[in-house]
Amino acid sequence: MAISFDLTGKRALVTGANTGIGQAIAVALADAGADVGLAGRSEPAQTLALIAKTGRKAVDLRADLSTIAPVQGLVDDAVAALGGLDILVNNAGIIRRNDLADFTEEDWDAVVDTNLKTLFFLSQAAARVMMAQGAGKIINIASLLSFQGGIRVPSYAAAKSGVAGVTKALANELAPAGVQVNAIAPGYIATNNTAALQADEVRNRQIMERIPTGRWGKPEDIAGAAVFLASGAADYVTGHVLAVDGGWLAR
Ligand code: NAP
Repeated sequence: MAISFDLTGKRALVTGANTGIGQAIAVALADAGADVGLAGRSEPAQTLALIAKTGRKAVDLRADLSTIAPVQGLVDDAVAALGGLDILVNNAGIIRRNDLADFTEEDWDAVVDTNLKTLFFLSQAAARVMMAQGAGKIINIASLLSFQGGIRVPSYAAAKSGVAGVTKALANELAPAGVQVNAIAPGYIATNNTAALQADEVRNRQIMERIPTGRWGKPEDIAGAAVFLASGAADYVTGHVLAVDGGWLAR
């Protein structure tokens, strides 16, 4: 049997694709042959330009995913712009760092709403399309904090642990419909999300010392796993949370 990572003709929607991990995933999916809808608050000018170089189509589907208000319209727009929807990558996410004593309800709600609630309801809207066509791939961006507690980021740890749970719950329900649901748990990746950690000399050193690979990850380090999980090569992989972490969890 030929094993294929080719995504030619597939239609993908990637949230938070204007920068960082989402950008690397969107470009890699296009490199593998997919047309890609980019959903986020900011103009994804750089990502559009990078995808144009691959010869694939990219469309700017602007949406603020801090609430679930836009999710149905976003999936409708993606289907209209791309001609269907085969792959959803739930990547958009935020983090709030604070001591427990100072952690506010807003710090809790903002992170849980964006990172978990929207991920669930956007998956629901996409799953309706995928179930009707009997195929599809949903890829959630989880975190090491799907497995660990982290430091000063309780709403993020709660949301990302929830992402692991939702990934498995949806995988169970959607498997008979031919839809696979998996997550990628990135390790410490140099992006805007981790700028404060990179700038903190002590935390940066502690983090580097603990990574067996001996370096921060790059957004591109996550992209190959996304292409794999989006492809036919992963048709028998579902409900899995794949750590791409330079060996962090192996320590
Ligand atoms: P990033 O560069 O800050 O990217 C986050 C993306 O999410 C941006 O495109 C951002 O766009 C988008 N976003 C945030 N809030 C949004 C909203 N309300 N509506 C629409 N889009 C929104 O950080 P990143 O590291 O690439 O993060 C991507 C994902 O990986 C996140 O889920 C993060 O939790 C996860 N992750 C990152 C690491 C790491 O070490 N970097 C590790 C584990 C997991 P705008 O702000 O322009 O809207």
